[in-house]
Amino acid sequence: MAKSAVVVGAGVAGVATALGLRRAGWKVTVLERRREAERYGAAFGIHPTAQAALERLGAGEHFHAGAVPYRGARIRRPDGTVLASLPLERIERKAGRPELLVSRPRLLDALFEALDRAGDVALEFGRTASDVRALRERHDLVVGADGIGSAVRRECFGERSRQRRVGTVAWIGIADFESPVHGETWGAGRFFGLTPIEPGRTNWYATASGVTAPEELRELFAGWHDPIPRILSRTDPDTWLRYEMRHLHPALPSFVAAGDRTRGGVALVGDAAHAMTPNLGQGACTALLDAEALARACATADVPAALPTALRAYDRERRRAAQRVAFGSRTLHRFMATRHPGLRNSLVRLLP
Ligand SMILES: Cc1cc2nc3c(=O)[nH]c(=O)nc-3n(C[C@H](O)[C@H](O)[C@H](O)COP(=O)(O)OP(=O)(O)OC[C@H]3O[C@@H](n4cnc5c(N)ncnc54)[C@H](O)[C@@H]3O)c2cc1C
Repeated sequence: MAKSAVVVGAGVAGVATALGLRRAGWKVTVLERRREAERYGAAFGIHPTAQAALERLGAGEHFHAGAVPYRGARIRRPDGTVLASLPLERIERKAGRPELLVSRPRLLDALFEALDRAGDVALEFGRTASDVRALRERHDLVVGADGIGSAVRRECFGERSRQRRVGTVAWIGIADFESPVHGETWGAGRFFGLTPIEPGRTNWYATASGVTAPEELRELFAGWHDPIPRILSRTDPDTWLRYEMRHLHPALPSFVAAGDRTRGGVALVGDAAHAMTPNLGQGACTALLDAEALARACATADVPAALPTALRAYDRERRRAAQRVAFGSRTLHRFMATRHPGLRNSLVRLLP
């Protein structure tokens, strides 16, 4: 009989895991507390390793149709002078393909389309999972893909690792014109990012501490190089997203809990396992790598007794790797957010 999994959460990590498990022959149910799939979100950078994971999950074709390459991005000072290049050309040389950018809705569409093709997955929207113990009694595997505030993590791994604010507010949005420049501009205690997202549009993000209203954000970046003030004055603040940057701290000692004869096993994926600051642009990438690795490990567990070994293999493959990325992202956040940019800028200029 097919093994059964319940995936809590239908974000990038949850839909990708459901897809991988279904393709591995599992019976899959997805519980999502929202009434429908979210249609908001700006651009995600998708590294070549995560692109390959999407292809292995069977979602490559639709993903590639909605993605654009990210090249030629620079780190600048607020006056526009270039400090350094983002390492995109190096990534492309090494991997043989470029970093790609895709909007969150398009990435989710590609995953949902592949899930639909895989067939026979019970997608239950408007269902908040609260009783994880009952889910474990009914399924061989419970996947916590329920984001940074994960109820599955809280119930199965305790509250020591929990979401913490890092003291920075991020604003994100999309402008209806193409920026002539891409990359990041670093000032004292604040920065602004510009990336392609689709022809004719520009994805932007800005961070600063203590900003509570769009007008304050416009004032803060008023003297910065073109097109930053134009982007802020020509986009409707009602379309901007405001977000308190948070991460999971301290790092979890395990992403998995073994089951027994009465309870299924548990695995955490994505932000539930290792939510990180967005500075390295790796949140969606690591979620996709988790999903593909968990599904691959579970594909080898053809009887429930083999599942603990599969879960340990998943934990070995993904925990340290994802936590290293999270640590790097937090360190980069501190470096970028410094109020004393002189030393930071000198260090950045030394980079190859
Ligand atoms: C400003 C910003 C920029 C970013 N840029 C990038 C980038 O460039 N590249 C990149 O890779 N990543 C980026 N990220 C990170 C990325 O958004 C996430 O890290 C990634 O999408 C992982 O998502 P997830 O599925 O684990 O969690 P989520 O997207 O949070 O999904 C969790 C889902 O679980 C549901 N849920 C929660 N609790 C329950 C419950 N009890 N029962 C049922 N359902 C529940 C939620 O409703 C939600 O749909 C960025 C983030 C921000 C904020």
